[in-house]
Amino acid sequence: MAGDMHAEIQSIVASVRRHHELFANALPLIASENITSNTVKMLLASDLSHRYAEGEVGRRFYQGCRYIDEIEEKAIRYAKELFEAEHVNIKPISGVNANIAALFALTSVGDRIMALSIPDGGHISSSKYSIPALRGLKLDNFPFDAQEMNIDGAQMLRAIKSKKPSLLMFGGSLFLFPHPVSEAREVADEVGARIVYDASHVLGLIAGHTFQDPFREGAEVITSSTHKTFPGPQGGIILCRANLRERIDRAVFPGTVSNHHLHHIAGLAVTLAEMSAFGEAYAAQIITNAKVFAQALYEEGFEVLCEHKGFTESHQIAVDVQKQGGGAAVAQKLERANIIINKNLLPSDKDPEEPSGIRLGVQELTRIGMKESEMKEIAALMGRLILKDGDEDQAKGYVIDLRKNFQDVQYCFDGTDAYTFPEIR
Ligand SMILES: *Cc1c(COP(=O)(O)O)cnc(C)c1O
Repeated sequence: MAGDMHAEIQSIVASVRRHHELFANALPLIASENITSNTVKMLLASDLSHRYAEGEVGRRFYQGCRYIDEIEEKAIRYAKELFEAEHVNIKPISGVNANIAALFALTSVGDRIMALSIPDGGHISSSKYSIPALRGLKLDNFPFDAQEMNIDGAQMLRAIKSKKPSLLMFGGSLFLFPHPVSEAREVADEVGARIVYDASHVLGLIAGHTFQDPFREGAEVITSSTHKTFPGPQGGIILCRANLRERIDRAVFPGTVSNHHLHHIAGLAVTLAEMSAFGEAYAAQIITNAKVFAQALYEEGFEVLCEHKGFTESHQIAVDVQKQGGGAAVAQKLERANIIINKNLLPSDKDPEEPSGIRLGVQELTRIGMKESEMKEIAALMGRLILKDGDEDQAKGYVIDLRKNFQDVQYCFDGTDAYTFPEIR
């Protein structure tokens, strides 16, 4: 039995190893993913992952937190500096957890909120299937202009005046252009609505000052994941104005988190430091890569959304692939060539099971050092494969070849050989 179990364990490790191999030889274009530096990877495997530290820095419920306090104090300080935030809570263990805590803090049962619908790019956590149902909130969707792929500013103001929501939830998962936060601020004040900005996708761009600046535009709270364009360990964060400090902190602990994940906190602190040093260069290259990639795909013949607006101002590109068989078929064909993307609903979609689009994110390719010329090569490869029904194996060989020179993580202090998995004895 013991022998069998050892074989089982070895087979689990072997699967992880093969997963590493796949991602060392693929083009990762999922817009919500990224890769951490080697230091962060090692910290995630540290003893911190075994510990509890309920409470605040210097005021813990358990003993043994001396060094945890040092780490957490730095994570909080770096985040406040990087985002020029009056207060920060680094305890949420995911982006959804951060949203749950924020809405727990800022709404009461029966309140009305406004957020993006899922086909218009909203995240499932702000839909009727998730937190609004959990908290008993009435949900209205922002009026959306599918041509502009953004919230319709004028209609939004009318909707806020007539619906009188108590909270506006900006941000989304299909997120090409900055949302009209400053436009909403005055009317939000008139009706007494708070503004929350879910930056899960764009936190790394905000850190690098290339997207929008939610606090300066009028947001009171920013919720976020810490692992999409912000290239940290998987987790969540809430940034807020000083006057909301106590409400947010209480809604996080003891409201919705008991122990926060301390290995994540150490990794977050390191990533914040990396972003202070390299964030502007990284974010600028992401925007350049996204625009060049979108233009090249468009020239190949893909129906890239929003040509009239330069396609995108974020890390994302949306492509309508209905004529090529729909999002699912295209995503599967690309996967067979080691190009990893996801099917995505577009505003025009009626059937949530049949997305007509794909979503591409260039943040991880940027993080491993790819620039304009690689974006053009990948667009041409996708054109051959999808538009000219090219050979999948040949394309896969091409991808593996292209990846050979991109095995290090850039924009950090120690990214060499980022996909190697350590020996396990
Ligand atoms: C990804 C995402 C989340 C959820 O983040 P998790 O860390 O996966 O829980 C929340 N909001 C938006 C807009 C997202 O894109």
